[in-house]
Amino acid sequence: MAEALQPVRGTRDLIGEDQRRFAHVVETARRVSGLYGFDEWATPIFEETRVFSRTLGETSDVVTKEMYSFADRGGDSLTLRPEGTAAICRALVSNGLTQSLPQKIFYAGPMFRYERPQKGRYRQFHQIGAELIGAAEPLADAEVIALGRDILAALGIAEATVLELNTLGDAESRAAWRDALIGYFRDVASGLSDESQARLERNPLRILDSKSPSDQALLADAPRIDGHLSPTAQVFWDGLRRGLDQFGVVFRENPRIVRGLDYYSHTAFEFTTDSLGAQGTVLAGGRYDGLVAEMGGPPTPAIGWAGGIERLALLLASAPAAPVPVAVLPTGEATQQAAITVLQSLRAAGLRAEQSWRGTLKRRMERANRIGAGWAVILGEDEVARGAAQVKRLATGAQDEVALDRIAAHIAARR
Ligand code: ATP
Ligand code: MG
Repeated sequence: MAEALQPVRGTRDLIGEDQRRFAHVVETARRVSGLYGFDEWATPIFEETRVFSRTLGETSDVVTKEMYSFADRGGDSLTLRPEGTAAICRALVSNGLTQSLPQKIFYAGPMFRYERPQKGRYRQFHQIGAELIGAAEPLADAEVIALGRDILAALGIAEATVLELNTLGDAESRAAWRDALIGYFRDVASGLSDESQARLERNPLRILDSKSPSDQALLADAPRIDGHLSPTAQVFWDGLRRGLDQFGVVFRENPRIVRGLDYYSHTAFEFTTDSLGAQGTVLAGGRYDGLVAEMGGPPTPAIGWAGGIERLALLLASAPAAPVPVAVLPTGEATQQAAITVLQSLRAAGLRAEQSWRGTLKRRMERANRIGAGWAVILGEDEVARGAAQVKRLATGAQDEVALDRIAAHIAARR
C-alpha cells in the first residue's frame, strides 16, 4: 500500500461534529450581522503581498514571521491572506466604493499564518469578521462591538467571555505615549526579552502585546495611554464608553489591550475567555482610520473586528445535532420506482431522505438505524400495489399504512 498522506502541520479536516460546530458559528454570525444591516463580501484567498506588508506594520508579528508569501510562476509576490481587513479595504478601493459610504461588510473564510500550532492556534484557521467603513463617530464603534456581543450571545457563549476595552488615542496621543514608553523600557531594558529589546526603538507599543513572561512582569508599571490622551482622543474615548452603555454592552477597561497590528487608533477591544488556556481571545478589533488611505483610497474612517471560528466553536456548549433522515426501504426491484418517487417527494418537502442501493430488507433496516434515521418508509410489494407503504417511527416502533403521495405530509406533520 502507498504511504497514507497527512494534512499539512497546523491544518485540519472538519468532519462530522467539528464541521457542524464550525458551520453553526458562521451561519449565526451571518444571520446576526444581517440584522445589523451588514452585507457579506468575499475576497480572494491570496493577494499581492503589498496589500498586507504595507498595512499591517513592518514590525508586526504577522508581517515579520507569520505570512505565507511566495512567488508565483509569473514572478509576482503573492501572500495567502493572514487576515481580512486589509483585503476588504483593498476591495473597497478596487471596486470604486469609497464614494458609497458607509459600507457595512461581513465576511467569513480561511486565513493563513505560519505559527506554532497548538489548541486554538492553527496555520490555516478561519475568521468571521465585520467592518463598518465610513463612520467616524464613537457610536459606530459601540454598534460594531454590540454586533460582536450579540453574535456571542446568539451562540450561547456571551457569559463565557469578557469584553476588554482600551483606547489607543489619536496620532498625537500615541506619539506622547510612545516617548513615555521608550523612556520607561530603556530603564528596564536588561529585563526585557531579546525580541522586545529589538522592538524598543522601532515600535515600543508592540512590547505591550508581548507574550513573554519576563516582559509581562515589567508591563504592570509601564506608562498608560490615558495619561497622554489629547483632548480629541479623550472626547472619543468618553463617547465610546457612553455608546456601549447605551447599547447595554458590559466592558472592562484594560490598558494592556493594544492589538498586534499597526493600523489601529482610538478603539481597541478583545472578547476574551479563560476557558481556552493561552488562546483566550475569541473576537477582537478596533478602529483603523488610516488603512483605506494606505490602500490608495481617500482618508476614510473605519472600525471592525474579527473572530476566530475555531476558538468560538470550541466554546460552544454542545455541537448542533446532526439532521435526522428518513430512510426509504424498497423491498426489491418491483418497488424501486415507487421508492424513488417517495424519496424525491420527501426531499421536495424539505425532509432529509436517503435510501440504500442494495441488500435485503433486514440489511437496509440495519443501515437505517446506523444513519440515525427517525423514520423508515417500507415499500412492500402488496402495499405498493395498493398505492401505499408502511411508515414507521423508529424511536417508538409505531407504524401506519400511508398513501404514497401522502407520506411526506404525514411525516412532516409528526416530526
Ligand atoms: P493571538 O494574540 O491569539 O495571536 P491575534 O491578535 O494575532 O491573536 P487577530 O489578528 O486579532 O489575532 O485575529 C482575530 C482572531 O482570530 C483572534 O482573536 C483569534 O480568535 C483568531 N486567531 C488569530 N490567529 C489564529 C490562529 N493562528 N489560529 C486560530 N485562530 C486564530
Ligand atoms: Mg497572533
